[in-house]
Amino acid sequence: MHLPTVITLALATNFIVGLYLYLLYQRKPKDRCFKLWSYSCGFFVLGSALVVLRPYAIPNFFSFFIADCLLLLAPVYLLAGLAQFSRFRYTKQRRQQALGTLAIVIAIFLASYQQPGLLSITVALAIALTFCLCAYLLHKSIITEPTFTRTLQSVFLLHALVMFIQALLVMLNWQQLNLHGLPESSVYTLLSHILLTTLTTLLLPWLSFLKLERKLTLKSQRDGLTRLANREHFFNQLERYWQQYPSTPAVFMMIDIDFFKKVNDTFGHAVGDQAIVSVAKLLSKQLRSNDIIGRIGGEEYAVLLIDIDEQTALKISHRLRQQVAEQLKFIEEANVELTISIGMVHVIPVQHDRITAFKLADDALYASKQAGRNTVTLAKFGPDIDNGLKFDI
Ligand code: GH3
Ligand code: MG
Ligand code: MG
Repeated sequence: MHLPTVITLALATNFIVGLYLYLLYQRKPKDRCFKLWSYSCGFFVLGSALVVLRPYAIPNFFSFFIADCLLLLAPVYLLAGLAQFSRFRYTKQRRQQALGTLAIVIAIFLASYQQPGLLSITVALAIALTFCLCAYLLHKSIITEPTFTRTLQSVFLLHALVMFIQALLVMLNWQQLNLHGLPESSVYTLLSHILLTTLTTLLLPWLSFLKLERKLTLKSQRDGLTRLANREHFFNQLERYWQQYPSTPAVFMMIDIDFFKKVNDTFGHAVGDQAIVSVAKLLSKQLRSNDIIGRIGGEEYAVLLIDIDEQTALKISHRLRQQVAEQLKFIEEANVELTISIGMVHVIPVQHDRITAFKLADDALYASKQAGRNTVTLAKFGPDIDNGLKFDI
C-alpha cells in the first residue's frame, strides 16, 4: 500500500472530523466535550504531520519528541472529553492517581528522549492505556444504552489493541529501526487509525444525542414545580405495575391539600407554590423509593404504595396526615397551618382494574372532605363498584 496516500488520508480524515466536532461545539458551547474531542483530532493531525517529516532534515526534537507528545495528547483529550461528558468527579484520590500516572509517563518520556525507539514504545503503550481508560470511563457513564456503550467500548479497546501491537512491532524490529523513515507496519496502524477515528467520531455525537434524549424524557415525565412524576407519567407507571406485578397487593392513595384556595387568597401564590412543594418533599421523604408518587393536579397527589397490606398502609397514611399538620404549620414564615385529606383503596392488580381503583380512592377522598378534612378514608371494593364500602378512621 502506498504509504504517502495512507498518511494523507489519515490526516485529511482527522482534520475534517476535528472541524466537524468543533462546529458541533460552536452550536452547543455548553458541551465542552466536543471542543476537547476536536482538539484531540487536531493533536493527532499535528503529531502525524511531524512524523511524516521524519525523513527530512527536521531536528529529532520536533519529529520525534514533540510528535510523540502530540500523538499522546490526542487520546488524553478524548479521555478528558469523556470525563467532561459523564460529569466525572475528580476526588482527591483520583486526582492523586492521575498526577502520579502523569509523573511516571513524563519521567519515562524524558528518560527515553535520546532513544526514539524507546520513546515510540512508551507512547504506543501510553496511548493504549489511555484508550483502556476511555473504555472504563464509558462503563461508568450515565448512558444506559448497553448496545451503544458496548460498541463504543469495543472501538476504544480495538484502538488500544492496535497500539499494543504497534509497541510490540517496534520491539520486535528494534535492530532494523529506521530513524529517518517510517516503518512498513505504519501503513496498517494508520489505516486502522482512520477507520477507528471515523467510527469514534460518528459515535461521539450520538452519545451526546442519547444524553439529551434522556434529559428531555426525564423532563417530560416530571412536574416542573415539585419534580414529582406528572399525571401522565404517574398513570403510565401505574399501568406498568399492573402488568408486571399482577398478584402483588398495593394501595392506591389520593391526597389533597385542604382549603388550599384560602392559602392562596390569604398568603399569595408564591406561598401556595411553596406549600405544594413542601407536601411533595414530605411525601418523597416519608415513602419508600419504589413507591410511585405523582402530582396529578394543582394541589392533588396520587400515590401507589407497593407490596403492602391494608393495616400498614393505614398507619402510613395517618402518619403522613399528622406530619403535614405538625411540620407544615409555617411556610416561609406564613402561619398557613396546612392539612391534607386522604382517600385510599387496597388493590390486587389481577383482581381490580385501575380505573375503578382510581374512582374509589377519589370517592374516599371526597368522603374525607365531607367528614371535616384532615382525615383518612379507606374505600373497599364491593360486589357493586358504586357501593364500595367506605369508612372513616
Ligand atoms: P378543599 O379542601 O375542598 O380541597 O378546598 P380547596 O380550596 O383546596 O380546593 P379547590 O379545588 O377549590 O382549590 C384548589 C386551588 O388550588 C385553586 C387553584 O387556584 C389552586 N392551585 C392549583 N394549582 C396551583 C399551583 O400550582 N400553585 C398555586 N399556588 N395554586 C394552585
Ligand atoms: Mg384542596
Ligand atoms: Mg383539589
